[in-house]
Amino acid sequence: MPLERFSAAWREQYVSSATASANASGGDRCVFCELAGAGVSEDSGVLWRTDTTYVALNAFPYGSGHLLVLPVSHVARLEDLSEVEYQDFFLTLRRVVVALQGAYGPDGMNVGMNLGQAGGAGIPMHLHGHVLPRWNGDTNFMTTIGETRVLPESLQSTWQKVHAQLEHRP
Ligand SMILES: [Zn+2]
Repeated sequence: MPLERFSAAWREQYVSSATASANASGGDRCVFCELAGAGVSEDSGVLWRTDTTYVALNAFPYGSGHLLVLPVSHVARLEDLSEVEYQDFFLTLRRVVVALQGAYGPDGMNVGMNLGQAGGAGIPMHLHGHVLPRWNGDTNFMTTIGETRVLPESLQSTWQKVHAQLEHRP
């Protein structure tokens, strides 16, 4: 199971980049910028993209269907997005919520952003929103973070289900 989770190349990059940026502040590479350049595919983990926004699997999901919504631009703060980028970001966020509803039919969802290191962002230099389906009986979002959990489905399966829903919507 762990092998499956960590097999794809970009996930390995994610690990090394996250570690590198934690060790060297103001690091040279940004894994989210690299991912922004990847095409929509199961291998890249990218599910959807527009000119200014893209959607990717979270390499370390807290549960099934945990996705990230990101601006293509390397910006850390909401206020650094242009008006067009800002609107597209939230339109995409809404699209993801609808797609996850269609793919999983969860009882609820967490939608949120951790801004800055103190806000809990793993990669604070590149803005990203989390969307996570939730079910009655789940523990709350904060206590879920940091726990090791057995995943109910593979990332590949998540990609296929959600990608179909994203494509399906006008
Ligand atoms: Zn970046």
